[in-house]
Amino acid sequence: MKNKKLFAIFGDPVEHSRSPLMHNCVFKNLNYPACYTRVHLKDGSKLKETFLSLKLSGANITVPHKEAAYEACDEVRGFAKTVGVVNTIINENGKLVGYNTDADGFMFAIKEFGNIKKILLLGAGGTAKALASRFVQDDIDVTVLNRSASRLEYFKDLVSTCHTWESFKAERYDLVVNTTSAGLKDEQLPAPSKIIQKALENTSFAADAIYGKLTPFLKLAQDKGITYKDGADMLLGQGVLGNELFTNHELKIDDIKIHMSKSFKL
Ligand code: NDP
Repeated sequence: MKNKKLFAIFGDPVEHSRSPLMHNCVFKNLNYPACYTRVHLKDGSKLKETFLSLKLSGANITVPHKEAAYEACDEVRGFAKTVGVVNTIINENGKLVGYNTDADGFMFAIKEFGNIKKILLLGAGGTAKALASRFVQDDIDVTVLNRSASRLEYFKDLVSTCHTWESFKAERYDLVVNTTSAGLKDEQLPAPSKIIQKALENTSFAADAIYGKLTPFLKLAQDKGITYKDGADMLLGQGVLGNELFTNHELKIDDIKIHMSKSFKL
């Protein structure tokens, strides 16, 4: 019998994560000898030693450790290299190899909104970096709005406009995306109410990277009659691509998707 592989998600907080359920559903239904758990990690600099001490075959990394995960890897491949942000790590014979599957997961999620040409991105953390780079690849005009100025430096040569709350004036957008963690553990909006109200009044669609709850941001979008979605489809998209990496492409992507989708109904 093959040795059972162990996977985990690292985050702080991590108890809300649906990733264990999603991946275990695939492993169980497709008879793949693996199991997926969660690890509450407070100190991102301890990621590598914790990963190795648990003898993990792979891991996902969530807020706030995705940039620390990039640093922890021995090698980084594909889109993760462009953005300096890692959400998936594979153990290749003791070497930690990093990937990023968040951005393609998000593109999968917004397909149903049709042709998106102009986006307001709220937040400037790991997720925002990945999404902004991916949007720019598709020639989408991106404005980044963040609470603090320091994190905007990264975006200055990448997107058309960057603002802190003080300098921002809303334009017309196809989509406003919340990638801040405001609303995750609290009931805060991603920016002062006046700004968010104005942004939502000038957009066709709204999306939040947070899933499993109606955040104050999405509640406001709902109140204004805007078509919106939470981060569940993004999570599904990144999860399917991550599972392909975990199982070394031994499972068919369509089968992974079918079983992972079922986990959302559990
Ligand atoms: P980071 O910690 O890298 O970045 C957080 C960002 O949120 C920063 O720009 C920070 O601003 C901002 N922020 C935090 N708190 C507030 C607040 N109260 N008001 C305004 N801005 C705030 O996080 P990630 O990019 O890794 O993740 C962000 C969110 O996206 C999380 O909620 C995560 O759960 C979700 N996510 C969902 C995924 C999915 O599959 N659905 C995938 C990836 C992420 P500042 O610079 O000023 O500190």
